Amino acid sequence: MSNHLDSHWVELMEQGALHVMQVLLGKGHRAFMVGGCVRDRLMNVQVKDIDIATSAAPETVLELFDKVIPTGLQHGTVTVLYKQFSYEVTTFRKENEYVNHRHPKTVQFVDELHEDLLRRDFTINAMALDVDAQLIDPYDGLEDIKRGIIRCVGNAHERFEEDALRMMRAIRFAARFRFRIEDDTWKAALMLAPLMEHIAMERVRTEWELMLQSKEAGLAIQLLADSGMLKRTRNELAYRFVWNERIRIITSWIDQMPIGLGRWGIWAWASELSPGVLRTQLQRMTCSKHQANDIVKSLQAFLEWYEFICNHLHEEDAVKLQWKRGIVKYERVCMCAVLEMIQIFHRMNSESFYGPFSIELLDCSRIEFVISSSKVWDEEVKVTNARELAISGHQVMQILKKTPGPWLSEVINHLIDVTAIGEIPNHLDVLESYIQLTWGESADDGHAH
Ligand code: ATP
Ligand code: MG
Repeated sequence: MSNHLDSHWVELMEQGALHVMQVLLGKGHRAFMVGGCVRDRLMNVQVKDIDIATSAAPETVLELFDKVIPTGLQHGTVTVLYKQFSYEVTTFRKENEYVNHRHPKTVQFVDELHEDLLRRDFTINAMALDVDAQLIDPYDGLEDIKRGIIRCVGNAHERFEEDALRMMRAIRFAARFRFRIEDDTWKAALMLAPLMEHIAMERVRTEWELMLQSKEAGLAIQLLADSGMLKRTRNELAYRFVWNERIRIITSWIDQMPIGLGRWGIWAWASELSPGVLRTQLQRMTCSKHQANDIVKSLQAFLEWYEFICNHLHEEDAVKLQWKRGIVKYERVCMCAVLEMIQIFHRMNSESFYGPFSIELLDCSRIEFVISSSKVWDEEVKVTNARELAISGHQVMQILKKTPGPWLSEVINHLIDVTAIGEIPNHLDVLESYIQLTWGESADDGHAH
């Protein structure tokens, strides 16, 4: 979407929010836009969604609107659908007695917006706007935005003790806006980092991913390392998020990578994790099996490819073959991540004094050849798995007049390989005669299985 369309979309979303607020006001309740949307609006950052806080009880909100979802009634949250947008409408509330350094034991609905703002994490997240766009800012959030500061609402030590996840959020927001974490808030985070062990690993992963895949990932990783926060997670992470020279170097480059798998790959590589240890680490972080597979495969593909190219850099045909076989073995998404990793290595090499790592052994122009050709090689690979072959296993058995057995997958894999690298075209008649010639009765003994 262009910026123009974006701003039109935000305008429509705001109009919808105003409508929802007007309905509440019309019934004698109070209603405000709160939290991230107010902050982003004041910072001229694109607003993603709008949260509304109201004095109306959740049941009342349910009754007042046609399309509603009781998202979290016990916490006072109802999602109101209006036109193409959805709004989280939450009853003013205060949180009492936190348990396990994460969850409030009870929430109490209150009458005052100020009390609701008081429970929020940072001053920049604790502002509200009324329907007339009047700002309600009891904790000087606007001033902190102007000064570029992340500061807890109230006593930082207490706020992090209540909910330790806020420490990671502080880092996420600080990196995202390139704000400084105010001294007392930072000191409290350093002191209370061990409380991270109370936080569910799913939450740790979510925050980590938001940071890794953000525009300011490098700064976030640096702050995380400085804080020592990830040394204290509930499930022990391998090497407890080491802070080493490689990590230090990638923090200044990772922001230039596209959002995606390549960032996981470069982080894993920089952490010096072997594929096996990486998998354990990802499991401990509660990554899905599918995601963990992709990340581990990307690292494996990169390591394998790297070793290969160190030895065969000047053999263009061999490099091309290796790349195509990589697509079959590791799938396109992973090779795409490998390419992103190579690109960032190449940049580090050509623009940095560090001439990082042993890649400095490599001749830059040769790496450029891989970077510029890989897209074409990628397009040339028409077959990456058995489903894409123009011949089925059943047909192979008929041609060779054999019953199923382990030989079949060997033949199929061979066919995938020769079609993937373009040795023969993926056409049924070509494959049929190739099979006859290679494995049929008339084939050389040397070829017969
Ligand atoms: P983002 O743009 O990343 O969504 P956000 O400010 O909207 O930023 P959310 O996690 O969506 O962040 O939370 C919405 C609001 O709820 C925050 O602005 C903050 O006021 C409050 N909030 C969220 N999490 C916490 C927390 N752990 N402790 C206190 N307040 C919180
Ligand atoms: Mg939000």
